[in-house]
Amino acid sequence: MTDTTLSEPDAALAPLEFAVTKNLAAKSPAVREEILRDPGFGTHFTDHMVDVCWSARGGWHRPRVQPYGPISLDPAAAVLHYGQEIFEGIKAYRHADGGIYTFRPEQNALRLQRSARRLALPELPTSYFLQSLHELIAVDGGWVPSGEDQSLYLRPFMFAKEAFLGVRPANKVAYYLIASPAGSYFTGGVKPVKIWLSETYQRAAKGGTGAAKTGGNYAASLLPQAEAYEQGCDQVVFLDSDGNIEELGGMNILFVKKDGTLLTPSSDSILDGITRNSILELARDRGLTVEQRAVSLAEWREGVASGDITEVFACGTAAVITPIGALKAAGFEDEQPIGELALSLREELTDIQTGRREDTRGWLHRLDA
Ligand SMILES: *Cc1c(COP(=O)(O)O)cnc(C)c1O
Repeated sequence: MTDTTLSEPDAALAPLEFAVTKNLAAKSPAVREEILRDPGFGTHFTDHMVDVCWSARGGWHRPRVQPYGPISLDPAAAVLHYGQEIFEGIKAYRHADGGIYTFRPEQNALRLQRSARRLALPELPTSYFLQSLHELIAVDGGWVPSGEDQSLYLRPFMFAKEAFLGVRPANKVAYYLIASPAGSYFTGGVKPVKIWLSETYQRAAKGGTGAAKTGGNYAASLLPQAEAYEQGCDQVVFLDSDGNIEELGGMNILFVKKDGTLLTPSSDSILDGITRNSILELARDRGLTVEQRAVSLAEWREGVASGDITEVFACGTAAVITPIGALKAAGFEDEQPIGELALSLREELTDIQTGRREDTRGWLHRLDA
């Protein structure tokens, strides 16, 4: 389990003093409301962004809130050549009382730090990460939609901006936070997806960057994802370097067994999903047994054939929980059983996130107060 406590030096840090420049060309409330009626995913952005610089000499400095817009980068910026980059994804929800809340943000802060270590980037202290979320919501809180299944998707990211073509960790780095209103991921209700088993390509290797949230993993998943579309599938599932089930391009995978076990692969190349960890906790509290261990393709296929596996689903912040309706590979296509657990866990989790159900675990964090 991941550590949720703040490290000592972090807890003692003085807050950053953000310089705020208001966007004079901010969208009017009427235009914003029009966008929020049907925001889609990832195409509209709020009026502001946050950025903090880091240098090897000066540490974190120049914290700013400024108008959303293009970033000026030197063409030799290391990220453009060597991909030294990491990111996070987290949502803010408007509750019925008008308050704006986010879900387990300390977990995203800690994961950004773990990703940073793997990509040789500086670790942004948890308190600075949380402060960046508060600063953006202070100016762009009006962009958090209140409709059913709507949220403001927050995208923190960090990259090497030093202009240097030599290969070493950059001495100049930028941390940014942007935000994009998001509607329901599924138009017309949650639909089971069909997934393609990639047996040609892997997204991550043993000892590689699979457990880090870094753009390179996504770049490596695009060709197999295109193959999935050609095969009439929605998503790809990858095998790890031992040939066991790993995860989808951007979602973890879970199996429900007849005996009440929730099973999910474990390997050092899997992204440690906060949605997955939260689901495992909800499942334990319901009295289900949780198992994290290697799951082979044979175990999956035989389990479905024998009725031992009763449901398979994927999870992540963007789509929350998606039932898997079919698994297709070069040599076979297996229908997957559809059960009740995935949707019931989805409802419990989204009820907590959106304030429809009491948060008894301290998972919510208020951003506008
Ligand atoms: C972000 C991500 C997930 C899901 O993580 P959550 O914290 O649940 O959003 C799963 N797999 C990959 C590869 C990811 O990048």
